[in-house]
This record gives sequence, C-alpha cells and structure tokens, in this order.
Amino acid sequence: MIIGVLALQGDFREHLAALAECDVIARPVRRPEEVAEIDGLIVPGGESTTMSKLAQEFGVYEPIRNRLRAGMPAYGTCAGMIMLADEILDGRPDQVGFGGLALQVRRNAFGRQVDSFESQVEIAGVEGGPVTAVFIRAPWVEKTTGEVEVLGQVGEGPDARIVAVRQGNLLATSFHPELTGDLRLHRLFVEMVRAAS
Ligand code: GLN
Repeated sequence: MIIGVLALQGDFREHLAALAECDVIARPVRRPEEVAEIDGLIVPGGESTTMSKLAQEFGVYEPIRNRLRAGMPAYGTCAGMIMLADEILDGRPDQVGFGGLALQVRRNAFGRQVDSFESQVEIAGVEGGPVTAVFIRAPWVEKTTGEVEVLGQVGEGPDARIVAVRQGNLLATSFHPELTGDLRLHRLFVEMVRAAS
C-alpha cells in the first residue's frame, strides 16, 4: 500500500515522516505519473492559493481530481482541507481546489480572531482522548452542504466551529496532526486507505 503526499509546497515532509511511522510506504507526489501509483493521498498544510497554482503548473491538478472522483481516499490538513472543499469562501478569484467534500470552507477563518492557537479536540472515531490540535491561519467549515460527517469542533454553542470532517473516503481537519507526534489521525487515514484498496 502506497500513500502519497502532495509535495509541491507546505509541510509535506512532516506528513511523510508521520506516515513512515505508520508502517506504510509514503511517497512525495509531484508528477502525474506518481498520482497513478498511489492508493491514497495526503494534501498538506501550506498555502492553498500557491498549492492551487503549482498543482496546475506541475500537471497534477486534473489527474488528482480524476482519481478523487473515482474514489481514491484523501486526507487534507488545513490548506489541504481547503483544497478538498467543494466551495471556498475568502479564497482568491483564480483559486481552484480539487473538491469532493460537500461543504463551504472559509479560508483564514480564525485569523481575524487569533492567528495561531492550540486546542484539545475530541474526534469521533479516534479513541484515547482528545487530540492536541494546532491551528495556523486555519480554515473552518462554514457549513456542510451534503452528506458530511462532522468529526470534531472547537468552541461551544453558537461559537462552535467545525474543524474535522469525513465524507466517504475523504477526511479533512483544519489543524495539523503532523506537527504533534500524535499519529492517531494518520492511522485513521491509513485504515481508510486499507479499507478502500
Ligand atoms: N491560510 C492558509 C491557506 O489559505 C492555510 C494555512 C495552513 O495550511 N496552515 O491556504
């Protein structure tokens, strides 16, 4: 089983290291041929506007989109969540995502309040207590527009914000599990890829 990490920009190295600890083959993905060789893909954090541009320039935009449409599992963290959303709020006009998740994501959503913070977040389907979630100019899910399962939120009552979701083979978090050494979300994704292949 080979899991690719989109390696155009952002913190793909940390994801490759986390996957290596999960006993799977992890490979950086930069070329169209490499998209054909993977069983699942992590789209890392970084800057979604730049990732969008580079994905088109490197010729991987269409191949990835097509594989996602065909059911390949993917996990997007932070900018990666933006890339997997069907609708991007506060994006750049020329910004394109791969899509797949029936939701609206708001870029830099927490940024107006606080640029970067940590929070303990309970994730449905992840045992062993809350994960330490690191948010860096993070998006949130403004609203779901389809059959999206909400796995985790921060805040309470009317201030609650959706920060972890799953829809079929797609998983996304607003935060960066690759930065904490806690492998539980990577393991959840590895299980999703295993189940799909
Ligand atoms: N604000 C970034 C974006 O819009 C995401 C930040 C991150 O991935 N840490 O893409």
